Amino acid sequence: MTGTEMNLIGGERLAGSGEAFPVLDPATGREVTRYRLGTSADVDDAVTNARQAFGSWSRTTPGERSGLLARLAVELGSRAAELAEVETSQTGKPIKLSTGFDVPGTIDNTAFFGGAARILEGSAAGEYSADHTSMIRREPIGVIGSIAPWNYPLQMAGWKILPAVAAGNTIVLKPSEITPLTALLFAESAAAAGFPDGVINVVSGTGPDAGATLVSHPDVDMVSFTGSTAVGRQVMAACSARAARVHLELGGKAPFVVFDDADLEAAVHGAVAGSMINTGQDCTAATRAYVHESLFGAFVDGVADLLAGLVLGDPMDPATDIGPLSSARHRDKVSEMVHAARTRGARVLQPGSLPGSHSGGAGLAHGFWHLPTLITDVVQSDPVVQDEIFGPVLTVLPFTGDDEAFDLANDSPFGLAASAWTTNVHRALRAGAELRAGTVWINDHIPIFSEMPHGGYRSSGFGKDMSVYALHEYLQIKHVAMDRTGVARKPWHRTVFGISYS
Ligand code: NAD
Repeated sequence: MTGTEMNLIGGERLAGSGEAFPVLDPATGREVTRYRLGTSADVDDAVTNARQAFGSWSRTTPGERSGLLARLAVELGSRAAELAEVETSQTGKPIKLSTGFDVPGTIDNTAFFGGAARILEGSAAGEYSADHTSMIRREPIGVIGSIAPWNYPLQMAGWKILPAVAAGNTIVLKPSEITPLTALLFAESAAAAGFPDGVINVVSGTGPDAGATLVSHPDVDMVSFTGSTAVGRQVMAACSARAARVHLELGGKAPFVVFDDADLEAAVHGAVAGSMINTGQDCTAATRAYVHESLFGAFVDGVADLLAGLVLGDPMDPATDIGPLSSARHRDKVSEMVHAARTRGARVLQPGSLPGSHSGGAGLAHGFWHLPTLITDVVQSDPVVQDEIFGPVLTVLPFTGDDEAFDLANDSPFGLAASAWTTNVHRALRAGAELRAGTVWINDHIPIFSEMPHGGYRSSGFGKDMSVYALHEYLQIKHVAMDRTGVARKPWHRTVFGISYS
């Protein structure tokens, strides 16, 4: 997908009114395409279109919205190969991840919200006073302004757009400026499926310009943001200034707790898959392993062995396991954090070799690569254990008792996800209750399901993506109370007119 036009506003592909900006292939550093950035003027235009479309879209029936979402799922399915290739070209993620996770996950999510659109039930209508009948209506909120990150651009477009439009809202989505291509393809597919112009708009621009305009726009009724905790705080402040509703999905630093009765092979494979997926650029990735002292040495050796066998290479090659990081700037940030930990005395293991250092990898020499990294001999308070790195880096610390393990796991400002590895049912139940995170896996780490919610505790934000809980995020609840007596002078009027009133 090439071209300078990376906005979709009112059904039209348009060039932004800002300066030219490149989309780079992170595996080679080469330009995939160059486009004109969307600016605050383009955001204004998109919000105006979304507002105009809201009147008729909000009056469509759940059945009509469901039908369009079902057609969108089919349309995305017919473009699956193209979506996967474009996603890999702009992110550098291995093609087997795009084809096996991002694209089918998005299609499944679309099909799910097609069904969920039809179950906007409220509580039963009833008489809560002798004189009235009450009913609950769930109504769309209006124009949604959504901001997405670069790690899963297609899935994030789906997570933001689908529940919003299923609930009858219209939306302006700002993808990350470095990965706008699949959000555009998603919105174009929606147009092909029959979504009316203006219901789904995309403005591709930078955070400080297009993003900041969108979140503070007076005609945006709700903001939904996925990204870092630092930017999320700014977004919340902008929403607070005009008391606008806000939904935040922020950073993570997921613990991975291995008890002494764990299946070691399962835990070792789970730790490598859970920490290295998407080159660690996953908000729920396993980042902090806490391993019972009796298994610590075997766990570290097992993880190091598996890391040594991972293939870093051309992301379009189905044999590639690990791609580059998303940008040179991000690669430098990850490298600096690892380097700083080493200078503080941490033991840093980086088995494997960078692509470009062997024959056939020449085109990859300028990519934004980082070796899979295992860190031991660090203390809990070390920044490499406490701060989000968002790269292929796993720290491992030992523990001796269950209480200590839960304390270490919960000793973080984040609370997006966590996992516990045990064959003891009582420990498993205790972990489900004690780990403070929006998702807790037992004997697994990463899988997500369209029917189940994803979202954080604490500094990982609030609000849910996926599932009917996400649909409810994009609906407001109205109480309609009807007098059922037909009496002009109602008994309660005495509280105003005095005791002689009849
Ligand atoms: P980021 O916060 O730098 O950027 C996210 C988005 O916000 C981008 O589109 C960016 O352009 C925009 N933005 C930046 N400044 C802005 C501003 N002042 N106003 C409005 N928008 C602004 O995050 P990133 O580096 O793109 O993504 C990585 C982060 O996203 C990590 O912290 C990761 O944990 C988080 N993430 C969270 C989830 C989740 O579901 N909780 C999912 C994916 C990623």
